[in-house]
Amino acid sequence: MAELEGLEFGKSDFVLLDEVTMEQFMENLKLRFEKGRIYTYIGEVVVSVNPYRQMDIYGKDNIEAYRGRELYENPPHLYAVSDAAYKAMKRRAKDTCIVISGESGAGKTEASKYIMQYIAAITNPSQRAEVESVKNVLLKSNCVLEAFGNAKTNRNDNSSRFGKYMDINFNFNGDPTGGHINNYLLEKSRVVHQQGGERNFHSFYQVNCSLHFCCKTVIATSNNDRSSHKAVLSALEVIGFSKEEITSVYQILATILLLGNMQFESDGESVNIVGQEVVNHISELTATDPESVNKSLLYRTVATGGGEVIEKGHTEQDACFGRDAFAKALYERLFGWIVSRINSIIEVKDYDPVLHGKNTVIGVLDIYGFEIFDNNSFEQFCINYCNEKLQQLFIELILRQEQDEYQREGITWQHIEYFNNQIIVDLVEQAHKGIISILDEACLTVGKVTDTVCLDSMDTKLAQHPHYTSRKLSPTDKSMDFQKHFRIRHYAGDVTKNNDRLLCLSSRVANPVLKEMWPDGHLSITEVTKRPLTAATLFKNSIVALVDKLACKEPYYVRCIKPNEMKSPVLFDDARCQHQVAYLGLLENVRVRRAGFAYRQLYARFLQRYKMTCEYTWPNHLMASDREAVEAIVIQHGFQDDVAYGQTKLFVRTPRSLFTLEQERNHL
Ligand code: ATP
Ligand code: MG
Repeated sequence: MAELEGLEFGKSDFVLLDEVTMEQFMENLKLRFEKGRIYTYIGEVVVSVNPYRQMDIYGKDNIEAYRGRELYENPPHLYAVSDAAYKAMKRRAKDTCIVISGESGAGKTEASKYIMQYIAAITNPSQRAEVESVKNVLLKSNCVLEAFGNAKTNRNDNSSRFGKYMDINFNFNGDPTGGHINNYLLEKSRVVHQQGGERNFHSFYQVNCSLHFCCKTVIATSNNDRSSHKAVLSALEVIGFSKEEITSVYQILATILLLGNMQFESDGESVNIVGQEVVNHISELTATDPESVNKSLLYRTVATGGGEVIEKGHTEQDACFGRDAFAKALYERLFGWIVSRINSIIEVKDYDPVLHGKNTVIGVLDIYGFEIFDNNSFEQFCINYCNEKLQQLFIELILRQEQDEYQREGITWQHIEYFNNQIIVDLVEQAHKGIISILDEACLTVGKVTDTVCLDSMDTKLAQHPHYTSRKLSPTDKSMDFQKHFRIRHYAGDVTKNNDRLLCLSSRVANPVLKEMWPDGHLSITEVTKRPLTAATLFKNSIVALVDKLACKEPYYVRCIKPNEMKSPVLFDDARCQHQVAYLGLLENVRVRRAGFAYRQLYARFLQRYKMTCEYTWPNHLMASDREAVEAIVIQHGFQDDVAYGQTKLFVRTPRSLFTLEQERNHL
């Protein structure tokens, strides 16, 4: 068993603080960070601080030390929660999930990779080839998704610009049999525009290294991009993408780059594309005739009220707008296609529960944290809404589950005050009255409703809401930015106006991947443009489905904290860290855990583990019940004030009592 930490490293569980104050919490967090202890528990929740340096804690020895162990037997680690989630899944046939949250650069994606590596390392001891191949594909999928979904931002050189939820399926042996990836809201605006100092998605720089026919498009690439490109190519092959598919993927990327170079000119009468070679290039890459490319970029097809379909020439500005929308949509669909292609390869096939036992799942969620910029767009609105939902789930699961269990076990529960953010969630998603509904209405009447009308409508409908601040009432309050300055034009434009253009081209392409990317390509224009679901509604639906999926699993949490803005391994920025601790609700979390009991175990199991530490229970007890035998153990070790006896379980307030038992057990 690995050495438990000494006191000089601070408290390994915030539950053990003398007093639950922000001051003590921060002191402990900082001390541990400075001593190189990046993980600390709150009960079963792992709080992780990004070390910004390679830590020697992820090797084979560590994996062995945590394998099959209980949480309190080792120093805090991601491996311990991964093992807890795995054990619950294997021993009790429970579906579990690990939810990783924190702001950009806090270490979520790195954590999710360590978790997956751990699970891969402890499964399939008999090295069966088909299981090994599933594990390989699951691990390699990270490399591909990062290439296409991550980018350098001002906050993180490898920032995930999409949310990711991955289910890993297991058979009754506890070996992975497959998986499924859900992706959420790729930040497609990055395809055409990046803030100063930021980059486009990694994939563009990687493709640029290898495709000489894009030499006109100047994008700075590095050795790093070149070696990543090799890794991505090999990952795509290992996963099972065919040669043709890989070529198509890169042809589409090249098409997007070429679109970026495309210019328009007007001769007073009509608008044209500058230079025909770019059109020829695109038509070659997409296997479309040049005329279709021209048409799809210079005209829009509209359905009139009478159901007639007519073509209308663009203005120069419209053409630019359309070109950008096209590039963004192409990239978004390409990303979606890659994810579904991976899913089709790793999905569990021919699983017969009667033959193979229950198919259980561990889900891993790595999703963007709260984002507040000076200028908040639709994407930030969605991201923040998603976080409100997840925070709500966290509160609900941690608090309600605790309360329910105490009630079931007949233990007195002390009520905890906490901020319930249901009210904010309602403000966004409520039918008819919520922000999304109001936006939807506006989008369905494009042309008549302007930004101002829509914002006025929000002001009227939401004036009474305590969490809504009208832009008229407080024009300088930046904290409520997403509600005041919501970019409806960008949002309505992307969603409802450009569908027709994409269809027009996609119905004529011969490139097989492109064809698959537009399964709705066969529909007529009128069918598709009638009543499209808006981006906000689609996103809301996907998040509601995600929350439902998580809610029926046993959750484990990793809460990531970013220690400073400089990516420094030695700097602990007190104010920044405290801010994160506050909005992640970590103090409340400690309070709940403390008001409650840090540890609980069925009497029989507790007895089984510790009976050798007490003369009255070893080798067997003669008492009337397991509960009485457990009482004897507790009294012999002198922590009777630290426990409560439930109907079926012993509840222990602080893990310290267990450390004593564990140590004694090991010394016998
Ligand atoms: P985003 O929301 O932008 O995707 P993130 O929370 O996923 O951010 P990561 O990409 O996981 O953040 O981490 C940012 C960087 O911090 C990593 O590229 C790595 O350099 C460093 N880092 C994070 N966790 C660790 C760790 N456990 N050990 C060493 N370095 C780490
Ligand atoms: Mg990330």
